[in-house]
Amino acid sequence: MRVRRVSVGVGVIGAGNIGQDHIRRLSRVVVGSQVVAVSDVDAERARKVAETVPGARVHASGHDLIADPEVDAIVVATWGPSHEEFVLAAIACDKPVFCEKPLAPTADACVRIMDAEIASGKKMVQVGFMRRFDKGYRAMKATLAAGNLGAPLMVHCAHRGPRAPSTMSGEMLITDSAIHELDLMRWLLGEELTAATVLCPRPTSSQPELQSPQLVLLESTSGVLIDVEVFVNCSYGYNIRCELVGDLGTVALGNGDGVVVRHAGQRAGHVPADWIERFADAYDAEMRAWIDSVATSRAVGPSSWDGYAATAVATACLASLASGQRAPVQMQPRPAFY
Ligand code: NAP
Repeated sequence: MRVRRVSVGVGVIGAGNIGQDHIRRLSRVVVGSQVVAVSDVDAERARKVAETVPGARVHASGHDLIADPEVDAIVVATWGPSHEEFVLAAIACDKPVFCEKPLAPTADACVRIMDAEIASGKKMVQVGFMRRFDKGYRAMKATLAAGNLGAPLMVHCAHRGPRAPSTMSGEMLITDSAIHELDLMRWLLGEELTAATVLCPRPTSSQPELQSPQLVLLESTSGVLIDVEVFVNCSYGYNIRCELVGDLGTVALGNGDGVVVRHAGQRAGHVPADWIERFADAYDAEMRAWIDSVATSRAVGPSSWDGYAATAVATACLASLASGQRAPVQMQPRPAFY
């Protein structure tokens, strides 16, 4: 990989919600990066977004963008089924790539990406599991590592969002939402997940056609049990919870760093509107880490293996959602490369 200017020249494929947010972040927040090219299947959207970044050019396709000699590194922010082709093309072009979650929707596609990366001889992929960069989760991991809580026994999680688009399906509660917990629990506990059971209570009265909420029960290699409430249309706001129960104590995410107001006999605090607000700092930190890793050629952050493992666990969750039965996670052994 050749970085020719002081800053890393980034090309962004996919100028939708998260693509635009990453473009803003790479242009205005992260030091040492410059968005030099944008591409989207909607050429007009790509043009409008590129206009917000001085000097950024528009490419007709993601593959043209990857081949652009001004592009040092790639962000893939298209929809999941197209991630594999762009990540493979970036690796073939010897350019580091940040790929939004999921790395790919099937475990086989993730294996093809790992095979290409291993053949290249160096780590070139970071997956967009930004919660690993959240201060609260990092403090939980550090607390667990300090040992005072003893061995972890259980983790209770909730992943709530205010409303779901009409295009959302029951499967997407797993592949789009719970996938963050599937990665985060592996990272927090430092071990793999071995089985999944998905249970479905009655749906909401406002959106009865959508199977939300769901309860996802995960098992880890050492026998930790994890429950995740996934509730994407809870109405009241975006609310993420996580409490780890150990032998000797517990550690939980705080309520965020907002203020609590006590007035007229009431106590009130703010609930974030969405994931962009709740994890703004984490997104900034993940992009800083990625740009630093590109500039120093030292990969950090969630790897292709992590992307593969999360997709493998999601596949087990989907099998359980369909069958109503406990489903084992099918995973190949971790390659020494990772
Ligand atoms: P989005 O708003 O639909 O944006 C995706 C963009 O990519 C759209 O403009 C889409 O065009 C375009 N696109 C689709 N296929 C393409 C292709 N082959 N080549 C070029 N452009 C293409 O979706 P989003 O919400 O930004 O999500 C994008 C990805 O980020 C997804 O994988 C999602 O899971 C992930 N994501 C991650 C987080 C996180 O917290 N880490 C949060 C949100 C999203 P059309 O609309 O015309 O199809």
